[in-house]
Amino acid sequence: MDFIRVLLHDTTLSFALEIVLRCIVMYVLIILVLRFSGKRGVRQLSIFEIAIILSLGSAAGDPMFYDDVPLIHAVIVFTVILLLYRFTTYLMMKSDVIETVLEGRPMYIVRNGLLIVEDIKQEKYSYDEFFAEMRQQKIEHLGQVKYALLETDGCLSVLPYSKENIKWGLPIFPDDYKQAEELIVNHHYSCMLCGQTQLLSSLDVQCSRCNCKRWAESKLDCEH
Ligand SMILES: [Zn+2]
Repeated sequence: MDFIRVLLHDTTLSFALEIVLRCIVMYVLIILVLRFSGKRGVRQLSIFEIAIILSLGSAAGDPMFYDDVPLIHAVIVFTVILLLYRFTTYLMMKSDVIETVLEGRPMYIVRNGLLIVEDIKQEKYSYDEFFAEMRQQKIEHLGQVKYALLETDGCLSVLPYSKENIKWGLPIFPDDYKQAEELIVNHHYSCMLCGQTQLLSSLDVQCSRCNCKRWAESKLDCEH
């Protein structure tokens, strides 16, 4: 085995520099695509960490079994990507503007048991996704939730009310999140779009908060 060939193959300095340039372009491209795809990170992974995984994926794999891909290429790719990552984190630490542009900012989804509809529309998440996240955190209805925030890494932080402060709220389990068909007098109803909860004189009443006319029976009791 010729170690020099394994390490260098026929790499010239100018090709090494070309790899550096390619890395920079690809890194920026991956960040841009991920950022403008609208989705935030994938559960605990920021878009930067995903960018690293994507960038390094084939750089790590190819030299393992292609005999004409010398290790030095992978070494250059790893070094450049790592430096770019450190550089972007440094920039984000130094500048709030850059941080917001690249990473977004935490966004309120629920405030005092009510959904922040405008903010939810901006994110490319559906109610199903939010409700699923909240269900996993043992939330049964929005009357239990003081705040829910979508973090920049895509996680949902939920701050529930203490037991004695729980109010009537919009149910988020599929069996209960459905349009009411008959009015029960003196029963609370919650707007299915924004979570507004009120007593109704008829099921045709518009929601005072968002003008929607779809009401679900509110919930108060919860197991947790
Ligand atoms: Zn509403």
